[in-house]
Amino acid sequence: MKAIRIIDGDAVVVDEPDTPAVGDAGEVRVEVAAVGICGSDLHLIDSGLAEGRVLGHEISGRLGDGTAVAIEPFRSCGRCRPCIDGDRHRCAEGPDIIGIVSDGGMAEFVMVPEAALVALPSGIDVADASLVENLAVGVHAMNRARLQHRDRIMVVGAGPIGLATAAVLLRAGFSVTIGARHDHQRSAAALIGAVVLDEAAGGADGFDVVFDAVGTTGSLRESVARVGHGGRICVVGSFWDPVELDIGILMQEAELIPAMMYGRTPTGREIDTAAGLLAELPSLGEVMISHRFPLDAAAEAFAAARERSAGAIKVLLEPGR
Ligand SMILES: [Zn+2]
Ligand SMILES: [Zn+2]
Repeated sequence: MKAIRIIDGDAVVVDEPDTPAVGDAGEVRVEVAAVGICGSDLHLIDSGLAEGRVLGHEISGRLGDGTAVAIEPFRSCGRCRPCIDGDRHRCAEGPDIIGIVSDGGMAEFVMVPEAALVALPSGIDVADASLVENLAVGVHAMNRARLQHRDRIMVVGAGPIGLATAAVLLRAGFSVTIGARHDHQRSAAALIGAVVLDEAAGGADGFDVVFDAVGTTGSLRESVARVGHGGRICVVGSFWDPVELDIGILMQEAELIPAMMYGRTPTGREIDTAAGLLAELPSLGEVMISHRFPLDAAAEAFAAARERSAGAIKVLLEPGR
């Protein structure tokens, strides 16, 4: 099968033996329909942590019988307390995040445990369904932020995480103001129904909850400036190096709430909620997916993903193309 391996920092298309239809540990083979390139993938490449790896944790595809699925990209022990509670991302043995810790979906096929399968409601195009992973991040952030009816909400950043988080919040009935850096991000934010921040209009502070969907010193500084007294800043964008916090967080007595990946609530897996949301938002793929490339065009795909200012939002690889 064809796969993309990171070799000397480059995304290289390789030909490898086919994976078995059913794996050793009862894992199932998924024929990959689409896999998103994530900011984390770019960071892993740049820091040398992806050497030799097949990346890709935002995966949709089909089982041997044709069933369309998305993937909750974890392999976990299944025995520790978090695993039993369904929070496989917090496995005490350290979750194996498929596409980060082990080989992932940038290939024609990927092996995953049965527990990782996410059934797709009818009406979802399997080629858009890698967005289920992005939406699950938003669902988890919303659940972490302990929202109250009438909370005034701002999302800082309109990349895939910011847009997915905003889409989840809007669908839940909140009105959402979003701050975007680039014009194409502003258009996308408006299309999903968010209020796009207009600096000149004023009134862009004092929010009850700010979702930082970037995760840098700069975005945290902006989040602190936007949050009201006693408010919450939910950090949904990942940072890999230490970041600085402005003294304003003390003056505002704001609460900092990290949100990482997704897990389970009393009503079920957050990623299943996300799949349901994607079915209710059929135009989201058109808004968020800016590029689709075949596996052979790996180099172009990664180059497009790095060019945020040139119009990229979510860049997908489609191995079946
Ligand atoms: Zn990701
Ligand atoms: Zn575990």
